This record gives sequence, C-alpha cells and structure tokens, in this order.
Amino acid sequence: MLMDEGELMKKAGTLTEALGEVVSPYFSHTSRMTRSKFSRSEEKMKNQPQETLSEGDRVQLSRLKPKIKSDPDDTAVKNVVKRKHVPIQYETEVKVKKEPREHSEETPWEPLNWKEQLLNMHEMRKNKDAPVDVMGCNKLQDDDADPKVRRYQVLISLMLSSQTKDQVTSAAMMKLRTHGLSVPSILQTSDKKLGDLIYPVGFWKKKIIFIKNTTKILEQKYDSDIPPTLRELVQLPGVGPKMAHIVMDVAWGELTGIGVDTHVHRICNRLKWVQKPTKQPEDTRKAVEKWLPRDKWREINVLMVGFGQQVCLPVGPRCHECLNRKICPHGKGVVKSPKNSPAKKSKPS
Ligand code: SF4
Repeated sequence: MLMDEGELMKKAGTLTEALGEVVSPYFSHTSRMTRSKFSRSEEKMKNQPQETLSEGDRVQLSRLKPKIKSDPDDTAVKNVVKRKHVPIQYETEVKVKKEPREHSEETPWEPLNWKEQLLNMHEMRKNKDAPVDVMGCNKLQDDDADPKVRRYQVLISLMLSSQTKDQVTSAAMMKLRTHGLSVPSILQTSDKKLGDLIYPVGFWKKKIIFIKNTTKILEQKYDSDIPPTLRELVQLPGVGPKMAHIVMDVAWGELTGIGVDTHVHRICNRLKWVQKPTKQPEDTRKAVEKWLPRDKWREINVLMVGFGQQVCLPVGPRCHECLNRKICPHGKGVVKSPKNSPAKKSKPS
C-alpha cells in the first residue's frame, strides 16, 4: 500500500533517528565527516517532496522501507529508540578465599578469666596467714645447716607431708631436728624411735620404711646428698612427682613443674583450669602446664594450697565470700555455704 507524502516524510524522520542508533557502532569506526554528510543528506530528504527526490534517494528510501513494514506497530523502532544503556560491571573486588589456619598457628586453649581468678586468689591470700605460709615444707628445714643436710631435710619434710596436715608435719619435723635429722643420724635411729618421732603423720608406719630405705640409697649412691634430677628423685621409695617437683625447686632452686597436691588438683578442677575434668593430680599438672605461662608455675603451689586451706575448702567451700564467686564455674552454682559446713566451724580469725 502506498503512503502519502506526509506519512512517508514522518517515517523517514523516525527511521533516520533509529538508523542513527542502529548504525552508531559503525559510525564509531568512521570519520566524523562521513556521519555529518549522512545527517545532512537525511535532513535534505526529509524536507523535500517525494517527487523531487533524486533516484538515489528514492532507492535509499525503498531499501529502508521493508524494515519499517516488517513491524507495523513500529515496536522495533520504539524498542531500538528506547534501548537502555546496559552498564558494564567492572570487577572491583577480588574475593580471596582464606586458607584455614595451620593448627600450630591457633591460639592455644586457656581457661576463661584465669588471669582475674589468679589476681583474686593473690588478693585473698595477701595476708599470708594460711598454715602453709608458716609451716609449709619450704619452711621446716634448718637453713643454717650444711647444704647436704638442708636438702635432706627438705626431702624428709615432703615425705612426711603427704596425707598430713601442715601442723602435724611441722611438729614431727621439729622433733626430728631436735633428735638430729641427717643421713647418718637417721641410719642410726631405730624404727621404733623413728616412729615415736614422726607419729601421728599420715601412714606413719609406711613412712618409717620409706624414710629408712631412701636414706640408705642416699648414703650409698649420692654421697649422703639427694639426687639432683627429677628422674632420680621419683625413683626413691615414697617420692612421687609432686614431691619431686617441689624438692627440685626448694632444695636445688630449679623449676621443673608445678607441684600439684590435692588442694591444687581440686581448685584447678573447680575453676576449670583443665580442659577436661582430671582424676589424678599428675593429670592436672600436665593439663595446667600446657597453657599456664611458665613464670607463674612457681607461685601456684603455695598460693592454691593456702587458698584451699582457708577459702576453697574440700567440703563446703566458702564461695559466698570468695572474690571468684561470679567467675568461678563451680562457685556460680553455690548460693551460700551449707549451715553446718566445716567452713563455718573452722573459719580462721
Ligand atoms: S567460688 Fe567457691 S569453688 Fe570457686 S574458687 Fe571460690 S571458693 Fe572455690
């Protein structure tokens, strides 16, 4: 169907705009002059009656017509004209997948609030008036005696202290020192006399045998001195790891490990200073030594023994008056000490 002149001009104008959009990529590669010439030609065609168009212009228009006819509603043209700019998204961020940290780089486990708990224990122990402070095993030897004798006395006081209250150990040590507490002196003492001197320390009969046998070994193997290593100390009759670590510290001045007795073992478990509950003091020692800085090892024994004697008692701990009660896993669940607990009966002045 033929169009009238007005319609043809209108279509030509719209087509020109559309063509400009469609061929724009082409023009981006041609000179500005070529595009300008084409625009002027189009403008000229628009303003001229069809009869006056040249043969070339008519051919150009006839070539363009089928594109218009193929879309009677001009939707193609509209779509081309309305084509929206599609933004190019640049990759601005390169995501780097983090490699899992090596096990060795991981922060080692340590208990929650341990520093605060330690400070609180020092605060509660600042008066140093627990039995261990005045009659502990590091206080019972004669510091003026010959070094060998002094070291021997340290060892004997620790052997006596096992399963025994500090007061009882202290009384036995005073009697032994008055009698003469050295390797030759004890070897000359009868078992009966030795029993009289150390009674009523815990397991006193067994301890007579341990002391006599150990003293014989010291005379024969160590020139009446005590062994200088942990490995040799624990081989002596009646000497366990806890004793050996404390002997190495007090007698030789060498820190080999934390001295963990029943007090230290109990308190470490109550405060959860062990990752999993432990059954034996030796297990507790190994667990605590894994994370506690070495410069704190030496203070732990006397600190916790005294704390265990005064506040964190084996039965009926005085959680209600403990500075750690809000940050202690065990103390959080304890509202107040039981009415008839030993805590109330033996509260120190
Ligand atoms: S709160 Fe109780 S269990 Fe915990 S450390 Fe203090 S006395 Fe011991």
